[in-house]
Amino acid sequence: MDFSLSEEQQAFRDIVRRWVDAEAPKDWMRKLEADEENYPFALWDKLATGGYFGIGIDEAYGGQGGDIIIQMIFARELARTAGGLLWTWGLTSFAGAKSIGLYGTEQQKSRWLPEMAAGRLRVSIGMTEPSGGTDVLGAMRTYATKVDGGWKINGAKMWTTAARVADRILLLARSDKNVEKRHHGLTLFFLDAKSPGVTATLLPKLGMRAMGSCSVTLEDVFVPDNDVLGEPGRAWYMMLPTLNNERIMVGAQCLGAIDGVLEDALDYVKQRHAFGKPIGQFQIIQHYIADIATWQQQTELLLYYVAWLQSLGRECGVQANMLKMVATENAVKAADLGIQMLGGMGYSAETDMQRYWRDHRILRMTPISNEMVRNTIAESFGLPRSF
Ligand SMILES: Cc1cc2nc3c(=O)[nH]c(=O)nc-3n(C[C@H](O)[C@H](O)[C@H](O)COP(=O)(O)OP(=O)(O)OC[C@H]3O[C@@H](n4cnc5c(N)ncnc54)[C@H](O)[C@@H]3O)c2cc1C
Repeated sequence: MDFSLSEEQQAFRDIVRRWVDAEAPKDWMRKLEADEENYPFALWDKLATGGYFGIGIDEAYGGQGGDIIIQMIFARELARTAGGLLWTWGLTSFAGAKSIGLYGTEQQKSRWLPEMAAGRLRVSIGMTEPSGGTDVLGAMRTYATKVDGGWKINGAKMWTTAARVADRILLLARSDKNVEKRHHGLTLFFLDAKSPGVTATLLPKLGMRAMGSCSVTLEDVFVPDNDVLGEPGRAWYMMLPTLNNERIMVGAQCLGAIDGVLEDALDYVKQRHAFGKPIGQFQIIQHYIADIATWQQQTELLLYYVAWLQSLGRECGVQANMLKMVATENAVKAADLGIQMLGGMGYSAETDMQRYWRDHRILRMTPISNEMVRNTIAESFGLPRSF
């Protein structure tokens, strides 16, 4: 067994690490994140100039190519400083481009992928609704009605991150109410976010503040047939195979955050003194460091294992859910201990521990809650569905 990165992968990691330290350092990320009113366009522009939006997009469409392992490496390195601002890249280059690549027609790919790869098209994801995200199908009240040349959409979405600044929203809507099963009759739209009838309103929140999550209302919004992804009514079947990728991306973000926490904690405990000694000499502080380092190793092993299974096309749904749960819980625990070791400075807006904690606390709820993850893991052992 060998889970080490190849020479090429290590070289890519080193390039990204140097770029992140030079172009996206922690103190700048901290300032960008705190500005709730303003999306981090400056980070977006640097990512575009660096060519990073092309990662994972086929070279035939202007991208750089790269599989899930390359995407994982990039996400980990960027999240080490950027934390939740990783999604400046991830919403478009990972989630958006993957959807177009997988479900788009040739014409749709040629139209949108080069724009995304160049950093000229920003994507938001509109799945969750005001009545609930865990039971997203039970809560869905957004309806698409067929009209001449396209569809008319009415409804509301909740927590649509970056919707205020998006060019397109990947939007899930019910297009058929008369279905036997609720995962039937769903359609995925690549909605022009500036269409008449779309209104996005900012929702103030605990972390990832600059990413601007929004409530979105849709009133008689017309979407042309050309902007439907895949076969109308079958969106759920299309989307299921992409869930493992999403779990891997969350795992990589959390691992990057743990990397950031550990390096900041080590720096601090070596230079901060109490009772005439560096606090890193106290046994309990050493144990905190040991705990974080162990969570880092545990997260890395599970992440690499799941990414490896996924890259080979092997079944890994249960392991991907385990990764999501372990990585998100480890990141929050690590940041919490990080705050503790920095004492009052851990709580200060002038250091990054509080940002790592705030940005990653949400990942225990999204994109799937860890309660739901536990449900699905338990079910995979033959236990009856509990809900
Ligand atoms: C900052 C932020 C950014 C987000 N970005 C996006 C985005 O870009 N696009 C998007 O579509 N969505 C986004 N979301 C939404 C996110 O995916 C949902 O918040 C998440 O799915 C949980 O849904 P909910 O908030 O409605 O909680 P609920 O579904 O109401 O759940 C509440 C609690 O009940 C528990 N629960 C529910 N059902 C069960 C069950 N069967 N068994 C055990 N426990 C259960 C949940 O685990 C949770 O603890 C974002 C959310 C936030 C806060």
